[in-house]
Amino acid sequence: MNNRIRIPICEPTLSGSELDYLANCIKSNWLSSRGFYVDEFERKFSEFCGSKYGVATSSGTTALHLALVALGIGRNDEVIMPTLTMIASANPIIFTGAKPVFVDSEIDTWNIDVNAIEEEITSKTKAIMPVHIYGHPVDMDPLLRIAKKYNLFVIEDAAEAHGAEYKNTRAGSLGDVGCFSFYTNKIITTGEGGMVVTNDEKVRDKLVLFRDLAHSREQRYLHYEIGYNYRLTNLQAGVGLAQMKKIDEYIRARREHAKIYNSLLKDVWGITLPPEAEWARNIYWLYSILIQEDFGLKRDDLAVELGKKGIETRPFFIPMHRQPVLKKMGLVSGEFLVADELFSKGICLPSSSSISEEQIAFVCDTIKEIQNQAQVSG
Ligand SMILES: *Cc1c(COP(=O)(O)O)cnc(C)c1O
Repeated sequence: MNNRIRIPICEPTLSGSELDYLANCIKSNWLSSRGFYVDEFERKFSEFCGSKYGVATSSGTTALHLALVALGIGRNDEVIMPTLTMIASANPIIFTGAKPVFVDSEIDTWNIDVNAIEEEITSKTKAIMPVHIYGHPVDMDPLLRIAKKYNLFVIEDAAEAHGAEYKNTRAGSLGDVGCFSFYTNKIITTGEGGMVVTNDEKVRDKLVLFRDLAHSREQRYLHYEIGYNYRLTNLQAGVGLAQMKKIDEYIRARREHAKIYNSLLKDVWGITLPPEAEWARNIYWLYSILIQEDFGLKRDDLAVELGKKGIETRPFFIPMHRQPVLKKMGLVSGEFLVADELFSKGICLPSSSSISEEQIAFVCDTIKEIQNQAQVSG
């Protein structure tokens, strides 16, 4: 066997109007963020989320930073977030001068342990940032209740959860703001890109202001505040708009693929299938499982063996409390036992919208084969 990747972890599907829309940008000479596709992309995507306004950004990371800035979060403030996520959730908090405060995960949904939030609230807490990890929504009602009780903003990191639903309401539209990523491996892509959605017109105006260097309204080149250049280009928005035509199809495919994976893996000893709470619509950004001790092989060894067969996988994110840079900054204290367990056992399997049933069957057969071989030799 060679080491070539035959089944990638997650690749984009670009089979619609992407090329036509890009050509329109070139032919019309409109490349920058002032082009015609940006507004339409914002309108279509915010509508998809069930939010009034969308403000497109250059990435998911800049969407989160812009949202924090627009809500006025900065030095001496604290923002509560899960430890189990990628560092793009935490860094924007640090950019503002505020402090991220990490909370352990819950074993049922792999998301922030909502019951552990309240004890982290101090007089400095300004916001909670739930992250809908791997496409499964956070249990938002109790979280929103805590936010209301303590007068905190809720900034959803929905970078992995386009179209995921909590009690029939879409991720991103549940908090004060919702932030999305359109990086190449996300549900839809613009290459690089992101968006903040909100129902609050004042917040929208702030987002627009800070996205574009905070040019004052009265006069161009006159500035009362420090803004950023976090603009999305017309080229990217064109690709995004083409992707929007297919987004429901992509999500349907991912849910269907999860069903197939589940049926093929449910009887395999030592595997825990991904969660879907009764109130949740998981969109399975990355179809992920836990490899328990009785599987017979460690998660990392399984990943190596799958790699030998050309199947690309990813271990779960390294939680924030294990990040050397965050430890060095004195941001880590306490224990995060559930996140540690998920981190050591979790593996993401190939999840592209375009993956075929045969490929899924090959992945599952290969997992079973590897397990059998481990039993024989072990
Ligand atoms: C992808 C991702 C981001 C960042 O998005 P970029 O577009 O890569 O900047 C933020 N948070 C989470 C949870 C993500 O998965």
